[in-house]
Amino acid sequence: MISLKTKEEIELLRENNLLVSATLAEVGKHIRPGITTLELDQIAEAFIRSHGAVPGFLGYGGFPNTLCISVNENVVHGIPSDYALREGDIVSVDCGTVMKGFYGDSAYTFAVGKIDPEVQRLLDVTKEALYKGVAQAKAGNRVGDISAAVQEHAEKNGFSVVRELVGHGLGRKMHEDPEVPNYGARGRGPLLKEGMVICIEPMINMGAKQVVFEGDGWTVRTRDRKPSAHFEFAVAIGREADVLTDFGIIENAINA
Ligand code: MG
Ligand code: MG
Repeated sequence: MISLKTKEEIELLRENNLLVSATLAEVGKHIRPGITTLELDQIAEAFIRSHGAVPGFLGYGGFPNTLCISVNENVVHGIPSDYALREGDIVSVDCGTVMKGFYGDSAYTFAVGKIDPEVQRLLDVTKEALYKGVAQAKAGNRVGDISAAVQEHAEKNGFSVVRELVGHGLGRKMHEDPEVPNYGARGRGPLLKEGMVICIEPMINMGAKQVVFEGDGWTVRTRDRKPSAHFEFAVAIGREADVLTDFGIIENAINA
């Protein structure tokens, strides 16, 4: 069942997703060679709690931390650890909050120092694919219009789309209907209606699309161990897409 949100509920979802954006900006400021992913997790948890919210992922399905941190060939759901970031890594940081009864959920993939130009292209194309999907996220379209836009942009640039993990509705629960795949056909899938709030989150691989679920019960990585990128927006559906996440504050923080 797809729930439609009131204007007031959408503002609470916006508050959450702006806090997630601010948290990702705070994490982004600290990303440099030598910092461990667990240190980044602690920074995020303190930041979220100091703003009166609770980390949305901590304890969710038994997840042990505040952030999902997935480096290089890890696609999503990586567990923070004592791994110290290295120059040339890319690091996907996925963050959730709960505040006033609603969830926030957004993700950004950061470069650590200077990265390979082809890896930079993967980051650029994945973010562009997200924006192409967002442009389709309006009332009267269907979920498949978003899916097809994301897939086409990734594949025409020579990259591949992960199939096993998808975007989702967002609200009083972190994962609501509908599913929002990053592959599919235009004109198919659930109709988008004003008041729906969804997360669009392309997971794009430099090599083949296949992934492996690691033995820790969480981490998803590419089977060929080539890099993967992940960007996620929460979006309210209206006559146009109303993006509840703000990458501007993240990019101002990392370019400062
Ligand atoms: Mg997420
Ligand atoms: Mg999500």
